[in-house]
Amino acid sequence: MTLGKYAGATDTGRTRRRNEDSYVVAPPLFCVADGMGGAQAGEVASKLAAAAVEEVDPGGLAGPERLTALIQEANRRVYDRAAADPTVSGMGTTMTVALVEDGDVTFGHVGDSRAYRVRDGRLEQVTEDHSLVNELVKSGKLSREEAETHPQRSVITRALGTDPDVDVDAFTVDTSPGDLFLLCSDGLSSMIDGDEILALVQHNREDLKATAKSLLNAANRGGGEDNITVVLFEIAEDGADTLTMPALDTAVLPAQQDPPERKHRWGRVH
Ligand code: MG
Repeated sequence: MTLGKYAGATDTGRTRRRNEDSYVVAPPLFCVADGMGGAQAGEVASKLAAAAVEEVDPGGLAGPERLTALIQEANRRVYDRAAADPTVSGMGTTMTVALVEDGDVTFGHVGDSRAYRVRDGRLEQVTEDHSLVNELVKSGKLSREEAETHPQRSVITRALGTDPDVDVDAFTVDTSPGDLFLLCSDGLSSMIDGDEILALVQHNREDLKATAKSLLNAANRGGGEDNITVVLFEIAEDGADTLTMPALDTAVLPAQQDPPERKHRWGRVH
């Protein structure tokens, strides 16, 4: 098995004035990062983390160890900048990274950006949200349905940039030919449900760029209350005639003087 088609896209959404999400489509690496912090800090955080994915080569490491090392380095870059520059003090970012390697996909994950696998007409979330509402669901204090509309659903319990070290979820999942993987920021998963995501990715499997656009459009129709980012990639048979889609550029927006805006807050739940 090998990497097939892939695509990525991002949109500011309908209510935010800035796009603080970043993504990377640099096969065999794919990443989504959702930054947070006042003024431009969220953009700085997610861009620093995304740049680390493209620049850092944890030599000699593979699989979960490689992605853990990569995310630790990204965390150090965000943390060091936040410590050195008062204008971005307190910034942070989520990070969900996928590495396609020897027919398997390894994930490294911190925060509430998600990875899904679509196989045999089913959508399966392969990452666990590091969020307050997910902690409450796991401890039985909140139902899944209540979590979806909870006023604190954007509070995350882990982020890059807030501590010198970060606790990384890193794991490998098996693949089959035809598997489709989706990475997304919460601007997608909080605006449309899993059934709609599945219907849209099943609708047009031949053109993942169109699929990505349709997901952004659906999230905007659902309210567009946050920045929306999606990255899609497919697993093909060895020797399959793969058609690769060029990556859309990570959105670079003109500098604006916005009032401080915080799309996420974080806290410890222990
Ligand atoms: Mg977000």
